[in-house]
Amino acid sequence: MPPPKIIEKDNYVRVRHRMVETQLIPRGIKDKRVIEAMLTIPRHLFVPEEALWSQAYSDFPLPIGEKQTISQPYMVALMTEILELKGSEKVLEIGTGSGYQTAVLSMLAEKVCSIERISLLAARARKVLDSINCSNVVIRIGDGTLGWPEEAPFDAILVTAAAPEIPQCYIEQLNVGGRLVIPVGDIYTQVLTKVIKTAKGVIKQEMGGCRFVKLVGRYGWTNENTY
Ligand code: SAM
Repeated sequence: MPPPKIIEKDNYVRVRHRMVETQLIPRGIKDKRVIEAMLTIPRHLFVPEEALWSQAYSDFPLPIGEKQTISQPYMVALMTEILELKGSEKVLEIGTGSGYQTAVLSMLAEKVCSIERISLLAARARKVLDSINCSNVVIRIGDGTLGWPEEAPFDAILVTAAAPEIPQCYIEQLNVGGRLVIPVGDIYTQVLTKVIKTAKGVIKQEMGGCRFVKLVGRYGWTNENTY
């Protein structure tokens, strides 16, 4: 089980409750552990511009610098719920970004391995994660389209950037029974795709439309300048 979190009571407890009651539950988020994590993790701390903290629990993504975003709370909850985490899993996350999704995963899994290609974002995320005692997280700076072979296999993989197609190494690095969630499509719109690895192959399910920043790397988009 993950280590206990010691998170100081903050001024945003009621705002987080409102976020869960108005944005997550009405849209069908049911997993009690996911709801508990969304109620607990202080999302505002992951928004680097303090002037934007008042919007940190609103129903949209926010800028985190380097032309990247912290995802909409509902999307974080939905992608997490799709992974069906019980607490004993080793999870790979691609696209650490602000570290917020990482913190949610760290509350729900045994260990989280997260990869971010932009070193400034990785360093900032590490600092915030340490400040709230997310000690079961390791972060690597690099191209997440290659996965993390040295840490594989994983029980779950969550990709927080849009891929033109599913990198084969993600399937190879999943345990049988493991789940992958990834936005797949063009640079403007994608389908949130769930992949379950079975002994006989993979099962793919489409979970709805979404829009993410690009997954830039060898098995993603090679040109980071369009978008
Ligand atoms: N989940 C993050 C959060 O809660 O803040 C949001 C992530 S943001 C939508 C997508 C992130 O993926 C960006 O930080 C971007 O730099 C990163 N990214 C894009 N391509 C990547 C790659 N090949 N490897 C690792 N990270 C990548």
